[in-house]
This record gives sequence, structure tokens and C-alpha cells, in this order.
Amino acid sequence: MCSLCKNVTEQDPCVICSNPSRDQGIICVVEQPTDVLSIEKTGKFKGVYHVLHGSIDPLNNIGPDEIYINDLVKRVQGTGDSVQEVILATNPNMEGEATAMYITKQVKSQNAKVKITRLAHGLPVGADIEYADEVTLTRALEGRREY
Ligand SMILES: [Zn+2]
Repeated sequence: MCSLCKNVTEQDPCVICSNPSRDQGIICVVEQPTDVLSIEKTGKFKGVYHVLHGSIDPLNNIGPDEIYINDLVKRVQGTGDSVQEVILATNPNMEGEATAMYITKQVKSQNAKVKITRLAHGLPVGADIEYADEVTLTRALEGRREY
């Protein structure tokens, strides 16, 4: 696992985190490693990722401490002004929204200057980022709005 973005990888940091042409100031937050693959396929995203490995799901006893939210907050904090934007690309369902809201609160309390955006709602409600087609994902990325 990559110690920076928590993506599944054999090398640490992973190829995306260690790529100097990727913008370390833009972090795209996703639920699963497979979501990274889907977004990478669009070729439209030049920032880096943060993989949560799940979403907040009270019905299944998954709270914020069960997924990698604290690590994300630390990344935003630790690098100070260098992180400009956090893109919330959690799934457009109840758990994904709850996770996005929680992250927004945490990140803003640590670093109020960070811009937080959410993927545009071209994505069908209840859909998985993982299964979204490239055109839909690209539109969602380009049309992201301040959260
Ligand atoms: Zn990484």
C-alpha cells in the first residue's frame, strides 16, 4: 500500500504519487482503488489521489476511524498551503454523501483555505464511480463544483 495515498501498490510511494508531473496540490478522494483506475482511464485528472478504502456506513458499524480519513486530514494539514483543492469523488449514495460531509468538516477545521469540490451530478444517484463510463466521469470531473 502507498503510504501517501493508500492506494494498493507494490511500490511506495506509488507511481502516481512519485510522478513529478502530477499536481500534488489537488487531491481526489475516492472510496476504492478501483475508482482510481476508472478516473485514470479518463486521462483528464493530473492531480493525486487519496483512497479511503470504504465509506462511512453507520448501519454496518463503519465509522470515520475505520477508513483512511485521518490520514487525508493529516495530508492537507502537513503540507500546509501546497494543497489547494480536495475533490470529493465518493459515490453518489447515502454513505458517499455522509463521508463527503464529514471530510469537508474535518478538512475545513484544519485548513480553511483549501477549496473543496464535489463531482458534478452527471453521475446517476446510487451509481458507483467504479462503473461510470469515461464520458460521464470526464463530465463529472470537469463540472465539479464547490462543496
Ligand atoms: Zn500513492
